[in-house]
Amino acid sequence: MSLNCPFCHSTDIMIVEANIQQANSTLSNLASPTALGALGTTVAKSLNLPPIVGGIAGAVLGGLFNSFTEQSTPSQKSLCFCHNCYQKFPIQYLN
Ligand SMILES: [Zn+2]
Repeated sequence: MSLNCPFCHSTDIMIVEANIQQANSTLSNLASPTALGALGTTVAKSLNLPPIVGGIAGAVLGGLFNSFTEQSTPSQKSLCFCHNCYQKFPIQYLN
């Protein structure tokens, strides 16, 4: 694998991580089982249901949501950054 920029063919290239995973972990934190459990408890209270019902429902929903986002998360994607022309491109371009 040669480290040449596909745009300017410079070898001054740095491999950087894509920001996709950061975005996903933020999303997962927002919809964590704990957070959804607390939300479910609040909803159950307003519906005169036992809080535990809402807590369980929220936790289950959160677990489902997390497994979905984990599945849809692309396996580690690396980006390359060219210091010469300031282009970013997937590492696959180097193959
Ligand atoms: Zn370049």
